[in-house]
Amino acid sequence: MSHHNQPATEWADRHRRALTTRHTHEDVLTDREFELLLEACSTLTEPHDFEARFICLIAGRLGLQAGEIAHFQTAWVNWNRRTSRIPQHEPCRCGYCKRQARQEATHNDDLSVEDIVASRWHPKTVASARLIPFDLSLRLELCVECFANRYDAFPRSRSTINRRVQAAASAADLPGHVYPHCLRATAASYHAYKGVAPVPLQALMVWSDLATAQKYIRISGTATADALRRVHHR
Ligand SMILES: [Zn+2]
Repeated sequence: MSHHNQPATEWADRHRRALTTRHTHEDVLTDREFELLLEACSTLTEPHDFEARFICLIAGRLGLQAGEIAHFQTAWVNWNRRTSRIPQHEPCRCGYCKRQARQEATHNDDLSVEDIVASRWHPKTVASARLIPFDLSLRLELCVECFANRYDAFPRSRSTINRRVQAAASAADLPGHVYPHCLRATAASYHAYKGVAPVPLQALMVWSDLATAQKYIRISGTATADALRRVHHR
């Protein structure tokens, strides 16, 4: 293969991957589906109903990852600023953190499981530490307040997060596969449709690549429509 063909081949490969890979954004819930999911949460038995609602709202509107939800602490909330921080570290020895530590230790000869457990819990990347506003809607605000009235910390395991989402999705009779990560994509899509710019969207979702934010915004079409209307409706 000649050197000159390289860029074309790379482009073709990337294009083929883009066409064949199943992307999370294909599993994004519409506003209607998301409302049905939230309504279905209230049909679950107590306290699963509130747990499911909390998970669906902070994943589906604020984009929190399942690991972040499982380790969510009321102490992370700043009531004056109406924000919640995702810290770089929260001491934890839950079963999930221990399992993750054991797995990490098998890939790292220099660190013992105990060393790695001591570093947990931490978000996926250092960049994931962030500040998230929760006063974007009254519903969201009340949900966080309700959580704080009930709990100091999220009361369930990491694997429970998936089960609650699945229970709500099947009660809502939603088509397709609903899982925590597609709720996160739903949050990204929701903000893109509302017209949030690429940089703040990237910051909220902690994507390493600005192109991911641009992709959600392009798919939403909102930015294009707004820009065209600004020009033509003056
Ligand atoms: Zn943990």
